[in-house]
Amino acid sequence: MTTQIGIINPATEEQVASVAMHDVEEVDRAIERAASATTSWRRVTPADRARLLRRFAEVVDAHVEELAQLEVANSGHTISNARWEASNVRDVLAYYSGAPERHSGRQIPVAGGVDLTFYEPLGVVGIIVPWNFPMPIAGWGLGPALAAGNTVVLKPASLTPLTAIRLAEIGLEAGLPEGVFQVVPGDGATIGQRFVTHEAVRKVCFTGSNAAGRKIMEGCAAQVKRVTLELGGKSANIVFADADLEKAAKSAPYAVFDNAGQDCCARSRLLVQESAYERFMELFEPAVKAVRVLDPANEASEMGPLITAAQRESVRSYVDESEVAFRGSAPEGPGYWMAPTVLEAPDRTGRAYREEIFGPVVSVVRFKDEDDAIAIANESPYGLSGSIWSRDVGRALRVARGVETGALSVNSNSSVRYSTPFGGFKQSGIGRELGPDALLGFSEEKNVFISTEE
Ligand code: NAD
Repeated sequence: MTTQIGIINPATEEQVASVAMHDVEEVDRAIERAASATTSWRRVTPADRARLLRRFAEVVDAHVEELAQLEVANSGHTISNARWEASNVRDVLAYYSGAPERHSGRQIPVAGGVDLTFYEPLGVVGIIVPWNFPMPIAGWGLGPALAAGNTVVLKPASLTPLTAIRLAEIGLEAGLPEGVFQVVPGDGATIGQRFVTHEAVRKVCFTGSNAAGRKIMEGCAAQVKRVTLELGGKSANIVFADADLEKAAKSAPYAVFDNAGQDCCARSRLLVQESAYERFMELFEPAVKAVRVLDPANEASEMGPLITAAQRESVRSYVDESEVAFRGSAPEGPGYWMAPTVLEAPDRTGRAYREEIFGPVVSVVRFKDEDDAIAIANESPYGLSGSIWSRDVGRALRVARGVETGALSVNSNSSVRYSTPFGGFKQSGIGRELGPDALLGFSEEKNVFISTEE
């Protein structure tokens, strides 16, 4: 039976919508509709599939402001971030609209004939999205999956389904055939798990926690189902003494407090070379205090609330057992607010230093030299992103090669560009999203040999 759940604005604690959660029978029907649609969708010519994706991008573009406002109300994202997120969906669709006509196989020299490879769609792809970036993460799976000729059933997080539901409507308005892209809001352990167990779903593309990711991977093994996992992170922001310290310190708060720290790429470990430590902290403290934690609908807001009261309790539990160096500010009153918080972790042993907190908390530690920086950065079981600040390009590259992580920036804290690959080393995940090769993760490579012998 379908149940309704209330969607709460985390900045006001008021209900903004009520959404019907799908049950397993409804999800099965959606998967079956998607499976039926694969036959006609894979036959749509590459140029027409490209045109439909371009059209989808255009209709998203016409709704960027509406989608952004919806995300502010549902997720507490700042309006400037939410506009970027909606625009990112548009840009990802536009980027992968160029792919269907370029997704070519090879002709391989062999004896006695001609050998050709083809990229075939997998069929139905199940995309499972977390609550921290509902729009971009939906788009990163959706764009390349559709471009490669697959149909998509997408499950948003129960807390944040509004923009995904709207994107499915926009897809239909743009002319996507029925069944090609459907959104099924519902509970992870039942609905999400159905993607794992239903035989018509050929791939699960999961972004979320390591606990759920491990279960999904185990479940997918039963059918040798394809799986991409984008999981947690505890990334290092490494600042050498020879860096532009002013720039590194000014931008470091945004490398971890953006989206209130609810970011898998958050640089929640700040590694500072000991010879520059005091100077860096003098610069870092006013930068943290300057972060504007305001109503996310306010154009000036740089950080909003946490997603739920439970998330704030979880984040607070880490801070309560740690020594706080300094804090920024946060509004009082309704909303799941928490001030940006800086911890010093000289012995690198506490839970706050080791675990992904998923809140506005950073641990600062000292390192001696390049080798020490790499060793400390690699202590984590995660390896998703990170930054290196140095004016010595050789050093920056040596360290970048040494850090076991999927997406690094030098003298910058940017993490994701739709045109470059994104994904984790170690326990941060398996597989890559985005970039020029994303369609390979949504295709089977088929080899066909044609004899030319008489
Ligand atoms: P979560 O694992 O609780 O939920 C993620 C999604 O999976 C939700 O839609 C949920 O309903 C569903 N789900 C939960 N259990 C499931 C199960 N057993 N089977 C199938 N689906 C299930 O994670 P969350 O709390 O929503 O998101 C936060 C986590 O996501 C953090 O660890 C964060 O680092 C990670 N994350 C990673 C990336 C990345 O790209 N690597 C990006 C964003 C978030």
